[in-house]
Amino acid sequence: MSDFNWCHGPECHTYETQSRIRGSGRDKVLRTRKVKAYYTYETNNSGPHIFDFFCDQRCLMDYVRTHITSVIGIAPRREALELPINVTKTIETNWSGNNYTRTNIERVDNT
Ligand SMILES: [Zn+2]
Repeated sequence: MSDFNWCHGPECHTYETQSRIRGSGRDKVLRTRKVKAYYTYETNNSGPHIFDFFCDQRCLMDYVRTHITSVIGIAPRREALELPINVTKTIETNWSGNNYTRTNIERVDNT
């Protein structure tokens, strides 16, 4: 397994940064960045890290915007999820001495 991936950002090679310039003389190009892949199947069972595939946040979001329909299609949410809770209110005092109502949320363990 190689220890790097090419950034998956669809526009990565178009961003004008020094880190993307490759070639010599007049034969220079902007090239997709390499990304160090720290995850390997041999040493880590927690799964790949998202930034093993993207050089930065901009390239990650470019990819998401381009492929959002396909990504959502993998695991679509067709109904809301719910988590049972208890809600209590308490009066608290803030740093300037004023009282305010704090909403406390506790999860209900109904297993
Ligand atoms: Zn990139």
